[in-house]
Amino acid sequence: MKTIAIIGGGAAGMMCAATLLDHIENPTEDFEIRLFEKNAVLGKKVSISGGGRCNVTTGIADRKILLGKYTRGAEFLKHSLGKFWPKKVREWFETRGVPMKCEADLRVFPVSDSGADVIGTFEKIFGMNQEKITVHRSSDIKDVGYLDGKYRLSSTESEIVADFVVITTGGNAYAHTGSSGDGYGFARRLGHTVTRLGPSLSSFETLENFPKEISGISLPKARLKWNAETFTDGPLLFTHFGISGPAPFAFSSLLAFETIDAERPLKISLSPLAGWQMPDWDSYMEKEAKIHGNREVRNLLDPLPRRLVDALGTAGILPNRILNLKGATLSREDRKTLSKILGEWIPLTLKSRRAGDEFVTAGGVDCDEVDTETLESKISPGLFFAGEVLNVDGVTGGFNLQAAWCTGRTVGKSLIERLESIR
Ligand SMILES: Cc1cc2nc3c(=O)[nH]c(=O)nc-3n(C[C@H](O)[C@H](O)[C@H](O)COP(=O)(O)OP(=O)(O)OC[C@H]3O[C@@H](n4cnc5c(N)ncnc54)[C@H](O)[C@@H]3O)c2cc1C
Repeated sequence: MKTIAIIGGGAAGMMCAATLLDHIENPTEDFEIRLFEKNAVLGKKVSISGGGRCNVTTGIADRKILLGKYTRGAEFLKHSLGKFWPKKVREWFETRGVPMKCEADLRVFPVSDSGADVIGTFEKIFGMNQEKITVHRSSDIKDVGYLDGKYRLSSTESEIVADFVVITTGGNAYAHTGSSGDGYGFARRLGHTVTRLGPSLSSFETLENFPKEISGISLPKARLKWNAETFTDGPLLFTHFGISGPAPFAFSSLLAFETIDAERPLKISLSPLAGWQMPDWDSYMEKEAKIHGNREVRNLLDPLPRRLVDALGTAGILPNRILNLKGATLSREDRKTLSKILGEWIPLTLKSRRAGDEFVTAGGVDCDEVDTETLESKISPGLFFAGEVLNVDGVTGGFNLQAAWCTGRTVGKSLIERLESIR
């Protein structure tokens, strides 16, 4: 009898177990699957993901675009993604009774808008296969060792001996959900390198007050830029502490290993309309000023929320002297001054990441030490990794869960092949 121990009943662990159950004809004869979850419930983080709606995956079909959504680990993920593509993930849930919908921004959610339905799918599968899988809830694995060809796990309940171990303990973001980074320690003790860890997908507190004064205002496509290589475009929300939303989240993913704090604030720039450079604003204003010569310049900047324009005026970033002019009196020079600021340089200073609100951990088990196709350790035979514990992370939009589903699936399939080869 071979024992497979899966540590962590989150997205990757549940998918790994379900894949094994999908394929193993009658594992009770030769194998047992034991899934250990430290919480009393499975998938705590999954059920709160996407604001409780659970952005399961993405509607993106283009391979290059999809891979571009992963800040780290895209190359490593290629195999698993190719085998369990977002469309297949969607179908997997749909054929198991959870219809999905794809929203305009290509995020895929359950039609019910309920992450609980996603967890329910796995609960149902495990419930129907109780003779094949034991789900140990409230079972906190404290340590994993390797001795005489077997893995020894110590849990809050007992010591377990396993032939194969799958580490799916997630990252260390939102630690209160149970994902507190335990897997990094297990991996290290089993001989693996864990790369530098950092917070990703977080909001930022800003030094400037203007974002806070227009809290609640959003920009559909803004650009945040640090330098020529480090910039992101996307929706941005001004908040009572600074900035949040997909563009700041993606920006934080690029800056995961930069120190940003009160002593080392980061000066960046904001373009409220990504893609609109100085010449675009210049010609737009020239045209508008001709048509609406009687309007104040602040009323000619229609592509922007009026409250943003006023706040930038009050902050002294856009000169009020120019904003108060009538369109007909706007000189070429003043037009260029405004165009330059709007197109290229609204200064923003990131004071800090908003403490504790990052969604994922950047960094993790070094992918060079894990076989891309099987996700088995190259260092410790019979040890597998899936999900966020690996040095793989993406931006918001369903890409992190997609990575967890597809790597969990790969490990499940690898184990089936391994078990069949020794049957
Ligand atoms: C607030 C929030 C919203 C998010 N929204 C989305 C979204 O909409 N779409 C998206 O793609 N991504 C989202 N993410 C990211 C996504 O949830 C994670 O990347 C994903 O859940 C990672 O899956 P995983 O299986 O690797 O780890 P997790 O889902 O974190 O699961 C790991 C599990 O292991 C258990 N565990 C840890 N240590 C032990 C131990 N020692 N013993 C036993 N069990 C242990 C934990 O309790 C946990 O249940 C969000 C994250 C957060 C925090």
